[in-house]
Amino acid sequence: MTSWTRTHQNPEIKALIMAQQSTLDYLISVIEPPGEHRIPHNYFEKTLEQAKSAADTLVQIHYQHNCLDSGCGQWQPKDQEI
Ligand SMILES: [Zn+2]
Repeated sequence: MTSWTRTHQNPEIKALIMAQQSTLDYLISVIEPPGEHRIPHNYFEKTLEQAKSAADTLVQIHYQHNCLDSGCGQWQPKDQEI
């Protein structure tokens, strides 16, 4: 499975996208700090660029911050075994 992550605001908040091989779309999720469950649902988008934009927006809705001021990371691809 191929996935992408981007750190937002602090190292415990990461936007996450996972390519879905079965449906050829992208699952959007957010890794939240321990004990936080502000973002209840996962979402799908059809393209990677749409997924990145939607994931960043999802983080902003629930953990509002300025990415420039907070020194957020860039989207990074990574391969992982699941
Ligand atoms: Zn950010």
